[in-house]
Amino acid sequence: MIPAKGYAAHQVRSSLKPFQFERRSPGPQDVLINIHYCGICHSDIHKVRDEWGGSRFPMVPGHEIVGIVEQVGDSVKNFKVGDAVGVGCMVDSCSSCNSCKEGLEQYCNGGTVFTYDSFEKNGKTLTYGGYSNIIVVKEEFVLSIPPEIPLAQAAPLLCAGITTYSPLRHWKVSPGQRLAVVGLGGLGHMAVKIAAAMGAEVSVLSTSEKKKDDALRFGAKRLINTTNKSNLSSLAGYFDLIINTVSSNQDLSQLLNLLALNGTMVLVGVPEAPAAVPAFSLIGNRRSLAGSLIGGIKETQEMLNFCAAHGIASDIELIRIDEVNQAYERMLKSDVRYRFVIDLKSLD
Ligand code: NAP
Ligand code: ZN
Repeated sequence: MIPAKGYAAHQVRSSLKPFQFERRSPGPQDVLINIHYCGICHSDIHKVRDEWGGSRFPMVPGHEIVGIVEQVGDSVKNFKVGDAVGVGCMVDSCSSCNSCKEGLEQYCNGGTVFTYDSFEKNGKTLTYGGYSNIIVVKEEFVLSIPPEIPLAQAAPLLCAGITTYSPLRHWKVSPGQRLAVVGLGGLGHMAVKIAAAMGAEVSVLSTSEKKKDDALRFGAKRLINTTNKSNLSSLAGYFDLIINTVSSNQDLSQLLNLLALNGTMVLVGVPEAPAAVPAFSLIGNRRSLAGSLIGGIKETQEMLNFCAAHGIASDIELIRIDEVNQAYERMLKSDVRYRFVIDLKSLD
């Protein structure tokens, strides 16, 4: 075992505090990564507050990890010491079920091992995430960060980037399609940048009118203030696809009504409580309501390469690790431009 340090929540809703723990010594297939930066995803907040149930403590959150390879096991083929690498939401899966064989490890039938608040395949070792100085990960779950993307701004791509890229690809977003992104936070701002690069006509549906200039800079055609209900009724039946990133409970039927014939709303945001879905908002225009979970490892590398080729990175606010609790409070007020990223040098 090797000593590690980070920040952890010790019980439900507690503030995060310095925490010493151990990582496994790297095995033949493992990569030891010196973590430089880790993004803060709203999922970290849901987990610390146990809003989805079943959270385990102590919890070291963080699944938008980037850093530099410090050591590789004897069998590691694709990485060497000094490489810029990333780790997202997963660190292991069964590798033999149909989902894993298709590169969809996030839907592993045998159980995906998530980067934190999950048990390793041995069923007893709790995983600890990226609010820490080092991590040891199987080579298959390590991504290469293209040199065109500055390391700190690449971190949010490992979750916010892939979680929005994957449904945009799956639902075949193409030039001219009318797409709405609901919520301009970490996931939302990545969805806008990626969908605009794919050629879609992007509209942002936001409760924050003051994010308008940013939305346009990210590639959106317009920002619609959803707190004014007449703005929504004028867009009834307009959109082919809606990517909904909102982290709090909301009225889904008024958003479903914005879909055109055969349109789909994809939920990626995961609020604490279930939402009501009136059948009438689906049967009109033969609409679909769907969901999507992160993306597979192969697709994550594809997304990183796509972002490098299109000059896409996350807009970030770089913070010290002792500012993490304050960052959570700001995110709960939708006040983030547009992803907090922790500089792990501040752990020293
Ligand atoms: P975030 O940065 O906090 O952004 C969420 C945005 O939602 C806010 O900026 C705000 O945008 C909007 N919003 C918040 N409360 C709202 C309310 N009451 N009504 C309407 N809009 C509201 O969060 P994030 O990191 O992007 O994560 C978003 C959600 O996705 C979370 O639930 C997270 O757990 C989930 N997630 C899912 C996956 C997956 O695989 N499916 C992966 C990662 C994260 P405006 O200010 O523009 O209104
Ligand atoms: Zn996330």
